[in-house]
Amino acid sequence: MLKKPCLMIPGPTNVPDRVLQAMHRPLINHRGPEYEAMFQRISLALGRVFQTNQPVLVYPSAGTGMMEAAIVNVLSPGDKVLAVSIGVFGDRLAEIATRFGMIVEKIDVPWGHMADPQVLASRLAADNQHEIKAVLITHNETSTGVTNNLQALAAVCSGHPALLIVDAVSSLGAVELKMDEWQLDVVFTGAQKALMLPPGLGFLALSKKAWQAQAVSTSPKYYWDAVLLKKALAKWQNPYTPAVSLLYGLAESLTIIEEEGLAAIFRRHELIGQAIRAGVEALGLRLFAEQAAASNTVTAVVAPKGIEAKKIQKYMREVQGITLAGGQKQLENKIFRIGHLGYVVPTDGLLIIAALEMTLMALGMACPQGKGVTAVQDVLLQGIAAT
Ligand SMILES: *Cc1c(COP(=O)(O)O)cnc(C)c1O
Repeated sequence: MLKKPCLMIPGPTNVPDRVLQAMHRPLINHRGPEYEAMFQRISLALGRVFQTNQPVLVYPSAGTGMMEAAIVNVLSPGDKVLAVSIGVFGDRLAEIATRFGMIVEKIDVPWGHMADPQVLASRLAADNQHEIKAVLITHNETSTGVTNNLQALAAVCSGHPALLIVDAVSSLGAVELKMDEWQLDVVFTGAQKALMLPPGLGFLALSKKAWQAQAVSTSPKYYWDAVLLKKALAKWQNPYTPAVSLLYGLAESLTIIEEEGLAAIFRRHELIGQAIRAGVEALGLRLFAEQAAASNTVTAVVAPKGIEAKKIQKYMREVQGITLAGGQKQLENKIFRIGHLGYVVPTDGLLIIAALEMTLMALGMACPQGKGVTAVQDVLLQGIAAT
C-alpha cells in the first residue's frame, strides 16, 4: 500500500514546497550583484528573526559547527566557563569547550528538568573574582523535550561580566527569543529545525560585548572566524563560497516567516505543543519533561511498561509511514520523541495522536479508543476560539 511519508522528528524538519521550488534554480556568481542583493535581503530578515541589531553570520555548516564557532570565537584556551547542561546538547557544548582547552565547570541538571535560575544566580554570585568568562546554555534541549526559561536565566547573568552563550538550534524561529532585549551574547541556530530548510546552514550572532571578546580570543580559527564573515558582510558577501542553493531556499523561508509573523509562529508552536502533550497524556502515557518546562517544539514520551520505544517507532514507520525520533544516550529505547517544529500546523497533532493510539492498541496496550484524539480536538477548539 502507498505510504505518504510523514516526518515528525526534531530535525531535519519538513521543508515547504515553496522553499524546495525556490532552490531549484541555476547557480549564480556569489561575487555578483544578484547574489549581493539576495544576501542583503537575507541578512536583514535574519536580524529580525534573531531580534537583534547585530549582524547574523551565515555559515555553510551543521548546527554543531555553530556550537564550535561560538566557543572558538569568543573564548580562549584556559578560560573558565560554566556549562549548564540539561541533556545531550548541553553536554556536547561543554565537550566542545573542553576540547578547545577551556576549563569547564558543569551544572548538570537531571534530564527532563529545566535549569533553575536561582542555582545559576548563586554560582555566579560566588564568583566574586569574575573568573567565569562564559555561561553556556541550551535554550531548548531537543534530547529531553525541555525548554529552559532563557529570559530568567539571562536575567541572573546580567550582574556578572560573563558572556551568555545560547544554543538556540531547536528554538529560534519557533519559540520566543529576544537576543538584544534579553542581553544574550552569542546565539546560534541551524537551518533544518524551525527555519524549514534542508540541513547545511548555520547562523551565529554576537552581541557588542561578544564582539569585544572575539577581538581578543586566542583560539585558533579560520573557517569559523566571525571577523572574516563580518567584513565580507559589509559588501553583502562571504569570505568563501556560500551554500548558494540553500540561500535561495533561505530567502524563501524567511519570506514565509515574515508573512506569518513571529507572534503567530510562536502561537502555532504553542498550540501544537499543547495539543500533542494533551493527546499523549490522554492515551495514558507519561511525558518525559517536567510539566512547567515541556517544549513546544519537541515532545519526549516515556515508552509504556512492556513496550519498547523502538517497537512503537518501527510500527509507526512501517505501517503508518510516520517517522518519529528515538531517545539518545541513556534514553535510548526508553523514550521516543515527536518533533513538531517548523513547517507544522496544530491539526498535524490529530494525525500523530490518532496514529500513536492505533499503534499502542496494535502492540497490545489497553487504550481507550478516541480519547487521545478528543483531547487534541479540545485543545485545538479552545485555541481557535482564543484567536
Ligand atoms: C539539532 C541540534 C544541534 C545540532 O545540530 P546538527 O545540525 O545536528 O549538528 C545542536 N543543538 C540543539 C539544541 C539541537 O537541537
